[in-house]
Amino acid sequence: MDEISGITIGDSLVWRVDVRDQSLELERVPESWQRLGGRALVARILVDEVPGTCEPLGGNNKLLFTPGLLVGHMLSSCDRISVGGKSPLTGGVKEANAGGTTGLQMAYLGIKALIIENLPAKQGLWVLRLGMHGISFEPADDLIGKGVFEAAPKLLSRYGDKIAIALIGPGGEMRLSTAGIQNLDKERLPSRIAARGGLGAVMAAKGIKAIVIDAQGGRKPPLVNPEAFKKAQKEFTKALLEHPQTAVYRDYGTAAVGRMALGFGALPTRNFSEGKFEGFETVSGEHMRDVILERKGDGEPTHACMPGCSIRCSNNYADSDGRSIVSPLEYETIGLMGTNLGISDLDEIAKLNWEVNDLGLDSIDIGAALGVAAEAGLMKFGDGKRALELIQEIRDGTPLGRILGHGAVVTGKVLGIEHVPAVKGQAMSAYEPRAIKGTGVTYATSPQGADHTSGLTIRAKIDHLDPTGQAALSRTIQINNAGYDSLGACLFAGFGFSTAPHTIRDLINARYGWDVELDFLQVLGKEALNLEREFNRRAGFTHADDRLPEWMTREPLPPHNAIFDVPEEDLDGVFDW
Ligand code: SF4
Repeated sequence: MDEISGITIGDSLVWRVDVRDQSLELERVPESWQRLGGRALVARILVDEVPGTCEPLGGNNKLLFTPGLLVGHMLSSCDRISVGGKSPLTGGVKEANAGGTTGLQMAYLGIKALIIENLPAKQGLWVLRLGMHGISFEPADDLIGKGVFEAAPKLLSRYGDKIAIALIGPGGEMRLSTAGIQNLDKERLPSRIAARGGLGAVMAAKGIKAIVIDAQGGRKPPLVNPEAFKKAQKEFTKALLEHPQTAVYRDYGTAAVGRMALGFGALPTRNFSEGKFEGFETVSGEHMRDVILERKGDGEPTHACMPGCSIRCSNNYADSDGRSIVSPLEYETIGLMGTNLGISDLDEIAKLNWEVNDLGLDSIDIGAALGVAAEAGLMKFGDGKRALELIQEIRDGTPLGRILGHGAVVTGKVLGIEHVPAVKGQAMSAYEPRAIKGTGVTYATSPQGADHTSGLTIRAKIDHLDPTGQAALSRTIQINNAGYDSLGACLFAGFGFSTAPHTIRDLINARYGWDVELDFLQVLGKEALNLEREFNRRAGFTHADDRLPEWMTREPLPPHNAIFDVPEEDLDGVFDW
């Protein structure tokens, strides 16, 4: 192993990359960072090192990659990578996480945190390579302007197929505020995107087209007590496999939740103007599965995005000739680029999905922007062909395309539309907050901006239309989810952890030799949220930012004619613990 400054690559270290002089500093992990990972560590580093008022695309912002605390052991669904920085979309804290193979390979190199800082000395884009040799920068001239589906195979043929890659598409290169960072799945397809909040634009500002991670020569992170880890792993996997939702997600993918959203009248339809869509049956998870099985070929109804995942909620959606259109096709995209646009044809939605994936953009914010554009008359609801043309405008970098590419809020401002479904600058995902009010509380108060992964409440046994109790419900789920995001656990791993919560304690203690208690998930989640709120406070956020758009508090949503009426005191008390 290489030795740099007496520190050995492969040990748990902070890798600090300065893009100005293309240098690497390896640092020991500060004590206050050691018990954090993933989302919580992103927040800690932002508070410690990034001025809240800095320009997101400027030299004071940093781009962070932090594997979660459990990453590195192919524990089912627990090898996610968190990406962070100050968001160009929200102006606040941002953590976006993704599955695939980036987290695992970074953990094998011992990377506790990769901190990319400063601005490049000259224009251009580079490939940043990470390996047991340290780092190197290589010109990415031949990749400039290339979509991720063209760029990734070139990188794989150049650097070998054992690598992991995190890369941006043309959307990031254009520094669009909805640009994310794509990661290879286990089949080496760049399809697992850290989508939200514009971190792809931050990566472009740092002059990086792709990060290539080659963990050959690296090693699995050490386990202090391998036997205890194995035992806890077995118990967790058993609990996960026995949970009824695991089978549902394996069969229908995330689209399984669509029927539930429809049942609650919470399916975003035609720019969030209704909660039921008459064309739902042809975009349902059940229909998608039938189509995939019938068409055969490349299609797969169930697929794992990372090695070792036993849920396998991902899929591969093929056309009538059996050729893959996109992988995966997920509920959020079906909601935002389907029902929200009045489109009921899965093939059309899949094509839209492929385009935004290739551009490296967030399908939620782009879908919401197209919904706003449709209300403004730039396309007819239901016209998938026109939606594709509008996405082509983004690819061409036209003024209209750039407006759409900056997301729903910018699109609404430019086109003079009040009905913009967004909080803190970030578009809502596919759950109407007037009909699932706990999720409305999450959208309003999450430091991340409107985001279902911060605290989706749809499965709770509660009257979703009653404002009572929604803030407390949202608080519980926001804490737990911030904890999962800090462990590197996919939220669906929560099916197992919620049944066997002691396994989190046992896995962490066996991995690190700590002595954490049963409430470690909540301790971690609260710390992440406290730090995120502190960063947002420094960035200038107040309670006034913790609100849904005003029109949602006065315009009734069919079919229940619900408004969002959770009291403001409840919203302001969500984080009082
Ligand atoms: S459950 Fe789905 S998103 Fe989560 S790790 Fe598995 S395949 Fe990836």
